[in-house]
Amino acid sequence: MQLRQVQEQYNSANRPYQTVGTVVHNKGLSRHESVIINRLRIGHTRLTHSYLLSGDDQPTCSTCGHPLTVRHILLDCVDLQDARRRHFSVTRLRDLFETVDNRVVIDFIKDIGFYSLL
Ligand SMILES: [Zn+2]
Repeated sequence: MQLRQVQEQYNSANRPYQTVGTVVHNKGLSRHESVIINRLRIGHTRLTHSYLLSGDDQPTCSTCGHPLTVRHILLDCVDLQDARRRHFSVTRLRDLFETVDNRVVIDFIKDIGFYSLL
């Protein structure tokens, strides 16, 4: 079995919340931006999940110390609140991916300097 399959199996068994949305509309995004949006939608990014394969501890948020998850970055981290408010005001992941333009989500991710890490 390939590492990728192992990781996918692990993820489906340990996913912290349901995958949000299934239909992906990524008009106007670059290929890489679409990849990032899809990673955010499934709640699985390099930044938040590479520890599973490397054997390191789960990463924590560098500013507030909470476990670093996609949800934490997109909705929960208090230190990102000001930046978040400049882009969107939803409080649920489902709303974020269903009502906020993917371009806005990407702009937020770039704004907080996480784009290259995901
Ligand atoms: Zn935080």
